[in-house]
Amino acid sequence: MLKVKCPHCKKEFEYYSSEFRPFCCEKCRLIDLGAWLDESYSVPAQKLTEEEQEKLMQIVDESNEEN
Ligand SMILES: [Zn+2]
Repeated sequence: MLKVKCPHCKKEFEYYSSEFRPFCCEKCRLIDLGAWLDESYSVPAQKLTEEEQEKLMQIVDESNEEN
């Protein structure tokens, strides 16, 4: 058994019992990802280099593939 704390709500849960790890549930995962994206995209696009934008999209893609 591996107990971890959800990065969003700080609740302890069993790591392998959650489909949404490292979050405890889908809600936490979406809220956290959404908040992160909001923050990222509030940065004016022209301030991101092409490389940075690519990296960002890659992270988003990877997150989506984990479903
Ligand atoms: Zn949580």
